[in-house]
Amino acid sequence: SNLQASLETSQRQIEKLKTNLATAEAQGLSDPLTGLKNRRGFDVVLASQLAGARNGAQPLSLILADIDHFKSINDTYGHVAGDRVLTAVGRLLSSSFRVEDLRGRWGGEEFVVAFSDEEAESAKVILDRARREFVRFIFEGDHGERFQASFSAGIATYPKDGQSIEDLFKVADERLYKVKEAGRNRILAADHFSAQELSEIASLSPSSSPSSQGSAKGSS
Ligand code: GH3
Ligand code: MG
Ligand code: MG
Repeated sequence: SNLQASLETSQRQIEKLKTNLATAEAQGLSDPLTGLKNRRGFDVVLASQLAGARNGAQPLSLILADIDHFKSINDTYGHVAGDRVLTAVGRLLSSSFRVEDLRGRWGGEEFVVAFSDEEAESAKVILDRARREFVRFIFEGDHGERFQASFSAGIATYPKDGQSIEDLFKVADERLYKVKEAGRNRILAADHFSAQELSEIASLSPSSSPSSQGSAKGSS
């Protein structure tokens, strides 16, 4: 009948609107360049995962990662090459870890990851595997030059480092800053580097230690 036909038409229209809405929502929560969640998308899911951690009395490790010397990658090899580094980090984060782990692009060249039910030390081990894989990637500059990249990261773990998302981000950011100061391409999941890390840092960058600055090497 006519009524039946018009009902079916309406139902098809409703289904189409639902699909459009879901697509729009997904696009509003994801980053087009990397395909990862954007800040909004990450925040929404992190809030529920943190609530889950609280209810289940389980830890949750939050990672803030930042590509090293990214401005100079753009300046030296071009923005297109810079974008390729960003998409490579996106692919690396997507293909590493467990399906339920959260990954997002926080903005610019900063990425976020959340591991539910993972203590700081194991989160660091898992992320360090991805870091060591990333430093082996060979990228191509706009003029065919070959180059490599690295990232630094700070990890904060619920509940020992903070109770709220805001506090966890603050601690992760402080640790990321310490890694940058110490020379980059490393992960810090505690307030201080271990003795072994300190000796690695010292052996990797002898010229950056205060005692050797302005000495034999001179300033020219
Ligand atoms: P650090 O090792 O201390 O993190 O130094 P950095 O150069 O990585 O950090 P800085 O914050 O100085 O520079 C970040 C650069 O990231 C500057 C900005 O132009 C670039 N950037 C941000 N978003 C994009 C993007 O979507 N594509 C490209 N190609 N570059 C971007
Ligand atoms: Mg940055
Ligand atoms: Mg950076």
